[in-house]
Amino acid sequence: MAEFNPPERTLIPIANAFKKLWNCDLVKDLRENEEICPVCGGTGIVIVDNPYGLKNDSNYPNGAFPYKNYSISFCKNCYNGVIRICPDCGQQIPRGYLKCSCAAEQERQKEQAIKVYMERLANAEKHAPSALGDEFYYAYYDEYERDEGYFCGWDEFFEWWKNSHDLSYEKPEYVWGTTEIHMCLDANDIIDSACEDLYEDAYSNIDSVAIKEMQDFFDKWLKEHGLTAYEFTYQHAIRVPWEEYEDD
Ligand SMILES: [Zn+2]
Ligand SMILES: [Zn+2]
Repeated sequence: MAEFNPPERTLIPIANAFKKLWNCDLVKDLRENEEICPVCGGTGIVIVDNPYGLKNDSNYPNGAFPYKNYSISFCKNCYNGVIRICPDCGQQIPRGYLKCSCAAEQERQKEQAIKVYMERLANAEKHAPSALGDEFYYAYYDEYERDEGYFCGWDEFFEWWKNSHDLSYEKPEYVWGTTEIHMCLDANDIIDSACEDLYEDAYSNIDSVAIKEMQDFFDKWLKEHGLTAYEFTYQHAIRVPWEEYEDD
């Protein structure tokens, strides 16, 4: 067995370590909307008090934390001594957040979402309301709370709309169409992976007629038992027949 070499302990006198830093400057190349953190003064470190309490302490019988165990820690208000300021409201964007939560920023995000929606709608192929139930088994509207946004008839969509929207709510002109995803069984793939652990080129010893025989069986089986899923697509938009909607 190899000889055990214990780690070598070194003690760093803190006073000496900090003395070295004493006359240094921290260089900060601040970008637009960045400022020095007011909490740590740009150092990125703060003193934390780590309070603690003691059981059976007759001076503080109610579980208080009257004692301290100060240490130096990273500042929780910033990264590396720098904070980011919201250009709209001038407040600090909280550490760990990309955007401010102020009204101006929310308005901008809303406008951006509308812009994206309008672009998608402009690029989508438009369909008449009758396409639902004909070309499309399901339609999709992201605010529709049932069935994860999917519905297959205007009646159920209107019923939901009536129950959850008042008259002032803006009605969407279109909802999205869906594409079908079919279950797939590929004889080539299945035989190929079944041959993997046999011997080299085992797959090539299977006759193409035998592969076709398997695929024919799969196709017949899929027709009877195969499953279909539906997924919304921004390529198709179906017009909502609001002319058929009754408010009362
Ligand atoms: Zn800080
Ligand atoms: Zn803001």
